[in-house]
Amino acid sequence: METRRTFFKAAGAAALFGFDLAPLHAQARELKISRTTETRSTCPYCSVSCGVIIHTLGDHAKNVTPQVVHVEGDADHPINRGTLCPKGSSLQQDIVNPRRLLKPQVRRPGSDHWEDISWDTAYSEIARLVKKTRDEGFVEKDAQGRTVNRCENIAWTGGCTDTNEFNYLVVKSMRSLGVCYLENQARV
Ligand code: SF4
Repeated sequence: METRRTFFKAAGAAALFGFDLAPLHAQARELKISRTTETRSTCPYCSVSCGVIIHTLGDHAKNVTPQVVHVEGDADHPINRGTLCPKGSSLQQDIVNPRRLLKPQVRRPGSDHWEDISWDTAYSEIARLVKKTRDEGFVEKDAQGRTVNRCENIAWTGGCTDTNEFNYLVVKSMRSLGVCYLENQARV
């Protein structure tokens, strides 16, 4: 079986004898993405926010589970103009990965393991705990008797994968709870 290493060995030998392998590489790439659909997205890893194109096979076919087969830099994107760093270049392995969690899990107080829970359970438990915490830490008036209506025992910090739209909703919902300690990483 030909491995990636033996391929590069053969490629090196061919280059040594003067063969131009550029067309071969280009053709291999074209074959890989010839029947895929393209989705423009943003690399989730850091706040540089490089543009990527995600190639998916089987997006519009019946009885087929769509599969991401290739991710590459978006040449039209003003930030990276088609380039990606090693982390961004490995995005396909992040998307298609058997170790990826696909449902919420919880580790109960005193427990030594994580258990799967439904999204409904996760939402209602989070909502109940946020309400309880806010009620316990809500400050209506400061030491001088002035109305402040703030929540001092909850903080929110955003991640680098958060978009402007997501951050907008975070600010709206956190401010409506009275949360003062609110930080987000700059993002597209
Ligand atoms: S490709 Fe690299 S530099 Fe660009 S956003 Fe992703 S992690 Fe950051």
